Amino acid sequence: MMRPKPNPLHKPALPQKYQEGLDTPIQFCPGVGPHRGAIFERLGIRTVRDLFWHLPRGYEDYHSRTPVLRLRAGETATVAVEVIAVEERLPRHAGKVRHILEARVTDRTADMLVVWFNQPFLRDKIKRGVRLLLHGKVELYNSFLQMSAPKYQILDKNEPEPDGGGILPLYPLSEGLTQGAVRKVIQKALERFGPFCEDFLPPDCLARHGYPSRLKAFTLLHCPQPGDGAPTDLNAKPVNLLWDSGEEETPPAPWLTGVPDSAWEKARRRLVFEEFFLHQLLTQKNRAARQQMRGIEHPLPHPSPWGAEAAPGTSDDPRNWPALFVQNLPFRLTEDQIRVCQEIEKDMHSPLPMNRLLQGDVGSGKTVVSLYAMIVAAAGGTQAALMAPTELLAQQHANTIRKLTAGLPGLKTVLLIGSGPPARRQANLQALADGSAHIAVGTHALFQEHVEFANLGLVVVDEQHKFGVQQRQRLIEKGTHPDLLAATATPIPRTLSLTLFGDMDVSVIRSLPPGRPPVITRWTAWDKESHVWEFVDEKIAAGQQAYVVCPIIEPSENVPQLPSTEEAFEKLSQTFLPRRRVVLLHGRHSAETKEDIMARMQNGEIDVVVATTVIEVGVDLPNATIMVILGADRFGLAQLHQLRGRVGRGTHKSYCILITPETISPFAQKRMRVMEKTRDGFVIAEEDLRLRGPGESFGIKQSGHIKFRLADPFRDMDLLQEAHQEAKKIYLDDPTLSSVPNQRVKQELGQAGRYFDIVRPS
Ligand code: ADP
Ligand code: MG
Repeated sequence: MMRPKPNPLHKPALPQKYQEGLDTPIQFCPGVGPHRGAIFERLGIRTVRDLFWHLPRGYEDYHSRTPVLRLRAGETATVAVEVIAVEERLPRHAGKVRHILEARVTDRTADMLVVWFNQPFLRDKIKRGVRLLLHGKVELYNSFLQMSAPKYQILDKNEPEPDGGGILPLYPLSEGLTQGAVRKVIQKALERFGPFCEDFLPPDCLARHGYPSRLKAFTLLHCPQPGDGAPTDLNAKPVNLLWDSGEEETPPAPWLTGVPDSAWEKARRRLVFEEFFLHQLLTQKNRAARQQMRGIEHPLPHPSPWGAEAAPGTSDDPRNWPALFVQNLPFRLTEDQIRVCQEIEKDMHSPLPMNRLLQGDVGSGKTVVSLYAMIVAAAGGTQAALMAPTELLAQQHANTIRKLTAGLPGLKTVLLIGSGPPARRQANLQALADGSAHIAVGTHALFQEHVEFANLGLVVVDEQHKFGVQQRQRLIEKGTHPDLLAATATPIPRTLSLTLFGDMDVSVIRSLPPGRPPVITRWTAWDKESHVWEFVDEKIAAGQQAYVVCPIIEPSENVPQLPSTEEAFEKLSQTFLPRRRVVLLHGRHSAETKEDIMARMQNGEIDVVVATTVIEVGVDLPNATIMVILGADRFGLAQLHQLRGRVGRGTHKSYCILITPETISPFAQKRMRVMEKTRDGFVIAEEDLRLRGPGESFGIKQSGHIKFRLADPFRDMDLLQEAHQEAKKIYLDDPTLSSVPNQRVKQELGQAGRYFDIVRPS
């Protein structure tokens, strides 16, 4: 793609509609207009600035491709070809080679042969008409040019033939947009709006790191030239999984790093630095802002549940609730839980608004700690709200709370979810508004406009990474500087969390409650399936229950081999477990149905729940001891770990069984092995980091804690530290960012705010 040549010295005279510079609405970009503009908006691109940040997910290198006609035996080359015929062969003599897939391909200069051995699954991909990029050694076989088992990549067939070669960016698309169209729009926009793309990083900082200008950086990422060091399909790092496995797994974008020290890589690092820098400035600003705020001074519980003081009085006096609550628990809190409860009550007592992250692995017992905080709030005469990401989870929390606070009859809890009888809903809203309800548990329904709290003193967000910053913010704004406690099971190394969550204090529950039964994890292939169901049957006979999880709800035409809940349900209820009570549960069911199923599961009226990942977060049923994950190779480590966390919560030994096709990619294999090997979330997170597998990853970017567009706090940790230092320096010198060079930073900060997921004190 031609690189645009803007002249940074002359701002061209622009029509009125472009005067907003990078904030010009996308529809005014050359080649866009209202219709296309709407399509771009579907991709989250509203302005020119967004367009610049719409970075390629990869590149195709047409530059280094050799025409087939010019291939010579013995050399290693890359060719772009189309498949004209495919043949499968099974060798007559049993040997190492059991299957051969032979394809005849052409690039219109000449034909050649390509063979793959023992990869029968390729027949679904290498088909007539498919366009391939091949990389491998050229041989002469029966006087015909051939590549054996080359690395391959399937090319987009809608792609126009590249004219003039070069390196072509590949953009994330939306229906109605082609690569060609996006390329053209971005190229034109760089030409037209380039002059507005001013640097705001302090000049000495740019110079020190040897970073290119901002415009140059964007230009390099959008239109790299051969030799710039862009990660094209051939030198991409980390290794494109495709090359290794023959299995099409898309690594999480943005996954690219360029050739070390190349122009492209410097440009990438510059933009990553920019993101971290703005994020760190916001973090510092928030922290400082919070220090100026007056929050609620919740009284310290008295009598304290932790001391050796006299037994608490009666539940008539709310001040006794915290101690009574702890006393009445059906278990003893662990040392970690007690320590964290103390950290929280101290924070709540302080006049500064609390902004605390509660971190603890799956099953470590975060709920009871959150509950304690809510009861401290109630004891002090304010209300508390607990927000969960799913109705299922909100229901479950409400039930847990009612159970664990049965000894505090004066404490009133209401449940607010999207569905339910209008009359009850009305009564609940009333109780929150007039202050007669102490605790509200709910979903997104909690922060809707008509919800009013008489005196909201504490907000608890469970599985906080499932919420966006605006959502948390809207709930917080239902009160006046209420305290915030955000719970998460994502294990984040301490060094990282200190910087990344610089405006939050972190409490960690490290140990699991005692007496947790082991969870035995086994990975097996489909051919052993019937044994698995026999085993499940035995456990059901012993009075236990099972979850069966599938990646999708109904069979998919595109990926027929993916197991779906519908198929699994049929298979189990008709063939493998006909005498057992099997039910189906997924996101399309209504809240009532979900609640009903969970209640019946709780009461032992159901033996097996076949579900999607709706049960991934938080579900807590101690009698469920088996988790069977069908198509486990389709899940990332974070999800597998979360799913497995649903069992091993009671007293029985538990099992997690991972079922996959016989041949899966080496990366998927490693994920399965990690699961078999350990149950420790931190270890799994580290392994995940190393594998950088596809799909949902423990990587913070992917888990939704903070939305960066290019930066990855794990991969780019060094840049994060640098940005942290740089931001701190600037902030100390000029906290209001009012010096002349800093005014630009300030402007940019306003723009950046909406991208980052930072909990802002209200
Ligand atoms: P998570 O941290 O994943 O949210 P939960 O809060 O759901 O975990 O707790 C998991 C289970 O452990 C629940 O059934 C809870 O009642 C139980 N639990 C919590 N704390 C303790 C404890 N100290 N001793 C025994 N069981 C506990
Ligand atoms: Mg939980």
